[in-house]
Amino acid sequence: MEKYGVNTLRRMFLEFFESKDHLKMKSFSLVPHNDNSLLIINSGMAPLKPYFTGQEIPPRRRVTTCQKCIRTGDIENVGKTARHGTFFEMLGNFSFGDYFKTEAIHWSWEFLTEVVGLDKNRLYPSIYLDDDEAFRIWNEEIGIPEDRIFRFGKEDNFWEHGAGPCGPCSEIYYDRGERFGCGKEGCTVGCDCDRYMEVWNNVFTQFENDGNGNYTELVQKNIDTGMGLERLAVVVQDVDSIFDVDTLYALRNRICQMAGTEYHSDEKKDVSIRVITDHIRSVTFMISDGIMPSNEGRGYVLRRLLRRAARHGRLLGIEGTFLADLSDTVVDVSCDGYPELREKQEFIKKVISVEEDKFNDTIDLGLGILTDMIAKLESEGGKVLDGEDVFRLYDTYGFPLDLTKEILEEKGIEADEEGFKKCMEVQRTTARAARKTTNYMGADVTIYQSIDAAITSTFVGYDRYEHDSVISVLASDTEITDAITDGMDGMIMVDETPFYATMGGQEGDTGVIVSADGEFKVIETKKLQGGKIAHFGKVTKGMFKVGDKVTLKIDSDLREDTCKNHSATHLLQKALRTVLGTHVEQQGSLVTPNRLRFDFSHFQAMTAEELEQVEKIVSDAIADSLEVKTEVMSLEDAKKTGAMALFGEKYGDEVRVVSMGDFSVELCGGTHVSNTSKIGLFKIVSESGIAAGIRRIEAITGSAVVDYYKKIENSYKDVCALLKTDDSMLMKKIHTLLDENKELRSENESLKDKINKASVSDAAKSVTVVSDMKVLALRVDDSDMNSLRKLCDDFKANGDADIIVVAGAMDGKVNLVVASDDAAIAKGFAAGKIIKQAAVMVGGGGGGRDNMATAGGKKPEEIDNMLKAVPDIIKGIC
Ligand SMILES: [Zn+2]
Ligand SMILES: [Zn+2]
Repeated sequence: MEKYGVNTLRRMFLEFFESKDHLKMKSFSLVPHNDNSLLIINSGMAPLKPYFTGQEIPPRRRVTTCQKCIRTGDIENVGKTARHGTFFEMLGNFSFGDYFKTEAIHWSWEFLTEVVGLDKNRLYPSIYLDDDEAFRIWNEEIGIPEDRIFRFGKEDNFWEHGAGPCGPCSEIYYDRGERFGCGKEGCTVGCDCDRYMEVWNNVFTQFENDGNGNYTELVQKNIDTGMGLERLAVVVQDVDSIFDVDTLYALRNRICQMAGTEYHSDEKKDVSIRVITDHIRSVTFMISDGIMPSNEGRGYVLRRLLRRAARHGRLLGIEGTFLADLSDTVVDVSCDGYPELREKQEFIKKVISVEEDKFNDTIDLGLGILTDMIAKLESEGGKVLDGEDVFRLYDTYGFPLDLTKEILEEKGIEADEEGFKKCMEVQRTTARAARKTTNYMGADVTIYQSIDAAITSTFVGYDRYEHDSVISVLASDTEITDAITDGMDGMIMVDETPFYATMGGQEGDTGVIVSADGEFKVIETKKLQGGKIAHFGKVTKGMFKVGDKVTLKIDSDLREDTCKNHSATHLLQKALRTVLGTHVEQQGSLVTPNRLRFDFSHFQAMTAEELEQVEKIVSDAIADSLEVKTEVMSLEDAKKTGAMALFGEKYGDEVRVVSMGDFSVELCGGTHVSNTSKIGLFKIVSESGIAAGIRRIEAITGSAVVDYYKKIENSYKDVCALLKTDDSMLMKKIHTLLDENKELRSENESLKDKINKASVSDAAKSVTVVSDMKVLALRVDDSDMNSLRKLCDDFKANGDADIIVVAGAMDGKVNLVVASDDAAIAKGFAAGKIIKQAAVMVGGGGGGRDNMATAGGKKPEEIDNMLKAVPDIIKGIC
């Protein structure tokens, strides 16, 4: 058998199923599309879910893919064994109500034995206990003897997720030979050891589970195949583990080179080598799909993986940053199947090195602090590190929880995860309170999932604001219904609509839908699954029934403002790439009638000069009156025009290309002005950082710019009026005022000084002697604590008194300071002692050191009484 490489095997599989009439589709992005139940795509079928459930109609009923997948469920085992990994590729052939068991089984056998050339005598199929149909196909049609077909129970060979479609599986195992076996008696297919490896899994989606364990036969039966590409390569290349197949071997070797070590020279080092080999693949692919490191969701998964890999690099003794360079190797070995890696190579490297640098800056500090925490814990005999400490490491030093856990585990210590989660939750709630989401009619979209997949809606509003159509679906705020009436919240779907649904960052249209006797105010237009366009709003007159003829009118003023902002966004992106460089990629965008917001990758704040340049380029493009053209073409043709595609976005075969003269070409489904001159004016109002490596620009266009300047002009006029001056004299006036202010302030200071000096010399005359101590009790109002303290220091410096008590009223409260010199302290008259009693008398409390103490109080009317009592207080102390 030939030892095909991973890239060859991938191509062989896809070509084989293309020859069986399957549509070959590119791997979907790791970021799930329209699926909130999943953080990251983790199987070949995950992105195809809407086709399986019938929510969307597949482009063909036979599809084949090689899907990039990431699973982080057992991340702590990655590295420890050679079995686990986070990144893998899943080969799959899928049937949506087309072929079923017979074809699926025959083709799996044909591919493995005839195309790849695996030895038939080493292959063993398994089936679900009572799936006699599968048994018959294997036994009679393929010719596998009965004793080589294994029957397994539900946990192994039945695919099921609660209620819904489910069905039996048929797997194919490969016997890798005795050297991989456990040697135990009865070691055979199904044994836990590494000898019999499962390479292929056919899922026959055959039944519907009603949730109570009652199974009914599905009308539309599906096939869902999964075969791990790396696993297949392990078998074909006859190597020990996935870390030895050609693509990972190259990566592993590069790491060994960097660390000056060899694989299999030291078990501990092998763990680190495997961790890095695996994680750098996930990291590279995630960034190429537009995921950026952050503390939330996918971004956090990326950060965890990246930092874990960085730490294991240190364990291997690799100095400095190395992961960005290592990602080059991932790109080299995988760009055959994923050309986007090559396209984004520079960007990927930049993101990795920024994150790695950041981590390197804090890791020493964090490790130092963690070491201290561990030492303290060990000295106390503790076995669990406090959740707050774990959170501090996470929040301040960027230590992902699992990294802290891993380091603790090496010392036999646990992390208080509950406590950590509580701290996280507190932080999240605070963050959430700062955000507010407005989603008309709430978030429960499940009721719309029952709408027939065959019902679609077409957007006809690129060049019209009004259109007649027929109502196809109606919903109240709780259910799909036949009619909605005056006063009700609801949803209307029609065959053809001029309303643009929120998409690609552009906010949907608002407006009205009217019928012969009804009126519906559209507050929000959104897309439902399967591309259906839903108008959400309220019936303001009459009633609406399914089948009614209606006229749909969008708010054209708002639409036109939105168009200006959307077209300006395209010009802005081009200008940013011109001024800052081609690493600028769109990371997010929001286009509303009022303004535009554009998030993009860039690694430092823009300078005033850069912002000015960008503004000028956009303004020039507006002044050049560029014609805006839209064309629908194939993705291939679009790429030839050099159109900028959205990072990590999945496009259909047909795409819409929006061009503005020769200046900008982008793939875009949004609405635009017909000529850039219609944008009128453009102004950037802010530029800020929103995450590591991501900047945000907010800008306005058209009449909003006029309003913006009008506002500035008005406040300018107000300032002039207030200062009783005009434009020509304003600056001079402000300078004069500032100078005057400065003079007054210094005059004030010197006056205060004079007054204080005078009172000091006056006061010195009122010293009384108590218990051999010279005591001075003095009232000074309207002075803050600092001034009083300074006053005491002056008395002491003059040697006027041994004990000084100064009190005064200020803003309705009492300020009190007591000072004692060394002689007084030696006799037991510490300032702290005296002030305790004095403070109580003015309704306060306080304390301080022996030589100086301060206190506040709430009873200014008692100040004089207190000062009179000072000699008694002192006598009472001795
Ligand atoms: Zn075994
Ligand atoms: Zn656009």
